[in-house]
Amino acid sequence: MPHDHSDPEHPHSLLPSDPALRVKALETLLVSKGLVDPAALDAIIDTYENRIGPRNGAHVVAKAWSDPEFRAALLKDATAAVSALGYYGRQGEHMVAVENTPDVHNMVVCTLCSCYPWPLLGIPPGWYKSDAYRARAVREPRRVLAEFGVTLDPDIAVRVWDSTAEVRYLVIPRRPEDTEGMDEAALAALVTRDSMIGCGLASAP
Ligand code: FE
Repeated sequence: MPHDHSDPEHPHSLLPSDPALRVKALETLLVSKGLVDPAALDAIIDTYENRIGPRNGAHVVAKAWSDPEFRAALLKDATAAVSALGYYGRQGEHMVAVENTPDVHNMVVCTLCSCYPWPLLGIPPGWYKSDAYRARAVREPRRVLAEFGVTLDPDIAVRVWDSTAEVRYLVIPRRPEDTEGMDEAALAALVTRDSMIGCGLASAP
């Protein structure tokens, strides 16, 4: 759901304790009143959960690794660059790409709810929406990363980006070593969903 983070009427402490239950109740009500078609809802969920998933984002990252012009365009205006590849739509209107370097590791959270770049990554994983991740990603990002199996050199700065309804982030993970000569499709297979949230690294070939 789009979420206006500037709305003081809806701090996240007021989110229902069981959102899934409330969603089910709303869906039941809307269907019984004939306002939504359950088959259409299923089709939307299937699109983001299975057909898109994180593969679009992996394509974008692999292209950025292989094509310096595309990488520059992506860093300059990610919304335009990914739209040119056909990746646009709800929850992806204002994209920003942040690139990991030898000195900086980027990590994405939505502290208020679960804002996430759907057209590139699909539906957010359960942990991304959890209270624990949303709170701890900003408070103790290195410990959270360690729990994901990512231990960073202390010299590497960690930058945490808070997604909003206005801006969604895509992390460009570092290109793994020994991947020279690999084509885009082979590179895309190394790009994990978590690496594009900044909670993982791209896989070794
Ligand atoms: Fe949000």
